[in-house]
Amino acid sequence: MVVVIGSLNLDFSIKTHRFPEVGETLTGGKFVISPGGKGLNQAIASARGGEKTYLICSVAKDIMWQQVFSHIKKERKIKVIPVFSRKNHTGCAFILLDDSGNNRILVAPGANLDLSFSEVLRRLKKLKPKHIIFQNELSEKLVKNILKLKGKFLEAKFFFNPAPYKDFVKDIANKPDFLIMNEGEASLLFDKKILSENDAIKTLEDLRGDFKNNVLITLGEKGVVFLHNGVAEHLPAFQVNAVDTTAAGDTFVGYLSAAILKGKNIKDSIIFAQAASAICVSRYGAFTSIPYLQEVEKFLKKRGIKV
Ligand code: ADP
Repeated sequence: MVVVIGSLNLDFSIKTHRFPEVGETLTGGKFVISPGGKGLNQAIASARGGEKTYLICSVAKDIMWQQVFSHIKKERKIKVIPVFSRKNHTGCAFILLDDSGNNRILVAPGANLDLSFSEVLRRLKKLKPKHIIFQNELSEKLVKNILKLKGKFLEAKFFFNPAPYKDFVKDIANKPDFLIMNEGEASLLFDKKILSENDAIKTLEDLRGDFKNNVLITLGEKGVVFLHNGVAEHLPAFQVNAVDTTAAGDTFVGYLSAAILKGKNIKDSIIFAQAASAICVSRYGAFTSIPYLQEVEKFLKKRGIKV
C-alpha cells in the first residue's frame, strides 16, 4: 500500500488565442476546471497503476475542495485523507494556455503549506505503508521531517520528487530511496545544464560516490537516465504523438512506485512508468489523461515488450 503526502489543488484553465498584455482584458477563451496538484496526480497514477493508495493532504472546507472531491470520489483504489485547515483556502492554480501550447501558471498554495508533521505522522503510524511518495509543494519543514522517518517504518521506501525545486534539496538529495526529477530540477540541484542524456549520464557518474540511493532524471521525449548501484544508464522514451505533456512527470512517479511494489526490477519499472507517461502525453488534460493499468499493459504488449 502506498501513501502519497502532497498537494491537492483545483486548476482553473483558460485556453486563449494569445496571452493578454499588461493591463489588457481579453475575451473569448475556453474555460476548464479540473482537480490538480502534484500530490493528487501522483496518487491517481499510483491508484490507476493498481495499488491501494492514500493521499494525505491539507485543504479547506470550501467550494474548491467540494469540486475536487466530487471528481475524485469516483476514483477506485484511492482514498483521500483531508486535513482541514482553518487558516487558508484549498490550493488553486490559474493556468493560461495559448494556441502555440505555451502556458503561464500562477499557484496559490493556500492550505497545502499548512499540512503539519504531527498530522502526517499520526496517519502514517496507523497506515504503515510500503511506499511513501512526496513532493515539494509542501512546506520545507514537513519535507525534511518526513525524511527523518526513514528507517523507522520497517519496510517503507521513500520516493521524493523535488518539484518545484528549492535550494534546501541540496542538503537532503541523497536521503530518499528514490530521487526522481526532471532535467530542469536536476540542472538546479547539480548546478549544471542538463539538456541531453549524455549530460545526465556524465553528471550522475561524476556524483555516484555521493549517492547510494536511486537517482532518476526524466528528460521528456528523450527518456530517463538513472543511477542504480553506482551505475548510470539511459532508457529511451516511447515514441508517441505528444499533444499535452501536463502530468507526464506525475504519472511517471506514481507508476514507478506501483511497478516496484509489484516486484519489478528498477529497469523494468522505469520502462513500465515510461509507457504510462507516453500514454499520458498522447492525450489532452491532466488527471484525466493518466492511464489505467490495463491500458499500460496493452500498450506494452502491442510493442512486444515484456516487463
Ligand atoms: P515533467 O512533466 O516532470 O517535466 P518529463 O517531461 O521529463 O517530466 O516527462 C516524464 C516522462 O514522460 C519522460 O521521462 C517520458 O518517459 C515521458 N514523456 C514526456 N514527454 C514525452 C514525449 N514527448 N514523448 C514520449 N514520452 C514522453
